[in-house]
Amino acid sequence: MLIRLIYASRAEEGLTPAKLALILKHSQTRNDQDSVTGGLAYLDGVFLQYIEGPDDVIARTFARIAADPRHRDVKVLERRNIPRRMFSRWSMSLLSWVDETRNIFRAFSPGAKIDLYETHADTAAPLFRAWAGTGHWVDRQLV
Ligand code: FAD
Repeated sequence: MLIRLIYASRAEEGLTPAKLALILKHSQTRNDQDSVTGGLAYLDGVFLQYIEGPDDVIARTFARIAADPRHRDVKVLERRNIPRRMFSRWSMSLLSWVDETRNIFRAFSPGAKIDLYETHADTAAPLFRAWAGTGHWVDRQLV
């Protein structure tokens, strides 16, 4: 059974672009092996991640992620069965912040400031679906 899981979390103090690149690289390697796909957004010290794959694999992956000291305050927004994958091409990609992706976030969460941690559970999956339809993802080297 396929499931998707979406969570928000707060990054450790002083997360550098190099550390973020390492998280992305390790996630891609591991997810490739485990048939996990998804997307990661990061802005102003907050992560918002979407992972999808077989139920048992997602449970194990998320247990490792939740225990990772590189972030805290991990808040699950959604965990549910899905008929098919949304991110079938990417083991893990990082969202690029451009006008289009910012405007998509604002369409779901109106407000002056973009605070990923305040993403609403009901809009988290539609938000990733809208972002997934853009070409604004980085899947390899960041730094
Ligand atoms: P090991 O390499 O044995 O790590 C042992 C412990 O050290 C773990 O607790 C690990 O979390 C921690 N750790 C590992 N590297 C570092 C480091 N450089 N600095 C500090 N602590 C470290 N993993 C996935 O498989 N798929 C994902 O999609 C995924 N997404 C992630 C998203 C975020 C925002 C973060 C912070 C991490 C993500 N990870 C992901 C990484 C995950 O948390 C584990 O580090 C990874 O899966 C390896 O787990 P392990 O126990 O096999 O690693």
